[in-house]
Amino acid sequence: MENYSEPIDRLINEFSKLPGIGRKTAQRLAFHVINMDIKDVAGLSKALVDVKNEIKYCSVCCNISDTEVCPICANGHRDSSTICVVEDPRDVAAMERTKDYNGRYHVLNGVISPMDGIGPDMLNIKELISRLGDGSVQEIIMATNPTIEGEATAMYISRLVKPMGIKVTRIAHGLPVGGDLEYADDVTISKALEGRREI
Ligand SMILES: [Zn+2]
Repeated sequence: MENYSEPIDRLINEFSKLPGIGRKTAQRLAFHVINMDIKDVAGLSKALVDVKNEIKYCSVCCNISDTEVCPICANGHRDSSTICVVEDPRDVAAMERTKDYNGRYHVLNGVISPMDGIGPDMLNIKELISRLGDGSVQEIIMATNPTIEGEATAMYISRLVKPMGIKVTRIAHGLPVGGDLEYADDVTISKALEGRREI
């Protein structure tokens, strides 16, 4: 631990808790904050607290939203017979960037991962199943990442959904194995969506 005064040490510590921020970067950020205008610091601090207070989860698809029902679920022009199941809200944003998909989404908020102690009941799977009861959904596209956990989660959901007479497809792996949907370019995502297959 360096010999900075207590408030600086505390700020460095807080920055270090963020993903991808090492000790060195945390120090750089902390000293940057010291040199910032007080108005900007207040703005940053308010934005941090507001995002926690104001962002909620869509009551239909579980995506992050500042409204009870997110704009995609509320949009009557989107095809409600297809639901694309993704791991995380950033994947919705990645799919939307392609402009190739006009269906609905469902955000699992993770994948089944016994190693990390994450079981199916910790994900938004029952919320997905409850959307399928009225017979309007004809296809579920499993767009979890092509990792071992992503594949296992796709298979798990497929086994639950298929007996309901709903087609389950899996996006093609134009995406690299071990890769992340969030970081894939638009063409790769479009290709993967085009080449989806039934599972
Ligand atoms: Zn929604």
